[in-house]
Amino acid sequence: MPERVFNFYAGPATLPYDVIKEAAKGAVNFRNSGMSVMEISHRSPLFDEMFKQAQKDMLEVMNLSQDDYAVLFLGGGASTQFYTVPFNFLKEGMTADYVITGGWAKKALKEAKYFGNANIAASSEDRNFCYVPKTFQLTPGAAYVHTTSNNTLVGTQMKNFPETGDVPLVCDMSSDFLSRKLDFDRFSLIYAGAQKNIGPSGVTAVVIRRSWVESAREDVPTMPAYKTHVDKDSLFNTPPSFPVYVVGLVLKWIIEQGGLEAVEAANDKKAALLYDYMDDNSDFYSGTADKDSRSLMNVTFRLPSEDLEKKFVAESAAKNLIGLKGHRSVGGCRASIYNAMPYEGVEALVDFMKEFKRNN
Ligand SMILES: *Cc1c(COP(=O)(O)O)cnc(C)c1O
Repeated sequence: MPERVFNFYAGPATLPYDVIKEAAKGAVNFRNSGMSVMEISHRSPLFDEMFKQAQKDMLEVMNLSQDDYAVLFLGGGASTQFYTVPFNFLKEGMTADYVITGGWAKKALKEAKYFGNANIAASSEDRNFCYVPKTFQLTPGAAYVHTTSNNTLVGTQMKNFPETGDVPLVCDMSSDFLSRKLDFDRFSLIYAGAQKNIGPSGVTAVVIRRSWVESAREDVPTMPAYKTHVDKDSLFNTPPSFPVYVVGLVLKWIIEQGGLEAVEAANDKKAALLYDYMDDNSDFYSGTADKDSRSLMNVTFRLPSEDLEKKFVAESAAKNLIGLKGHRSVGGCRASIYNAMPYEGVEALVDFMKEFKRNN
């Protein structure tokens, strides 16, 4: 095995190699303390400084202010946010709007129904989620509108978010968080499991508008209440300390790249290389998402037969291109090309695709 392969897994997923190497150092001896970052108290000044810097860097990258937004690093995965959002904000007699663009959005909707009325404001299930709806049936005075910015399983991405006026906009950004520049101040709550684009599994980033937290329901137990965590700057209880440390390193890496503008330009370039090749060879590699809804993060495609798809996955793996099998719910192939996937990785993939097509 080589020192490093090109890893196309959807999540947990590839991270910048420099971050991995730095994290390995911190895992042994954190900032010359003689202790691993895993061994230090979350109440120690050493930890506190690292933690607060990660929160600060997050807001800097997103161009948000600490006065308006709080950054929380929580456990339980993005899936825990599916019920935490309605638990806090779907008040008695109110309706929450959900935009259903894939399997994860459906899971979020299911949880909302435990707490109150949930309305489907738009859905692309009629065509197996291969596109992102552009019009929305919004409920006037809704509790919030819930969206999913990138649909990991089917490979679509929302380019235009609903105009919600005064209604708070919520977004599950798990699989494209910090991959592109957005007007983040349009959102009242953004959440993302770290393991797709910004770190290892075990921590979920929540960026929440402080003023909205003040209007949350009060009959929520301590841990699921956002207010608990906002009031304590996300240190109410022991945070997932090692994952947060790695997220902090990824944030530094993003800043070093030149921020989200630079990261987005690199992502555009990678996705264009792959999609352009696919479009020129659509007799063999057919993209499954509508062109105007294509994801820059998860590129989904089919080959002429399932046997060829199996062969493609096996032979690519033998060439150190790992994790190209599509999600079991949709089949086919999927190349996840998150922030940390180098351009060379996509080049190597396209070279392999050319060769595979020639031989088959
Ligand atoms: C992976 C994923 C989730 C689930 O994340 P967990 O951290 O495993 O709970 C939710 N939403 C989207 C869009 C995802 O890609």
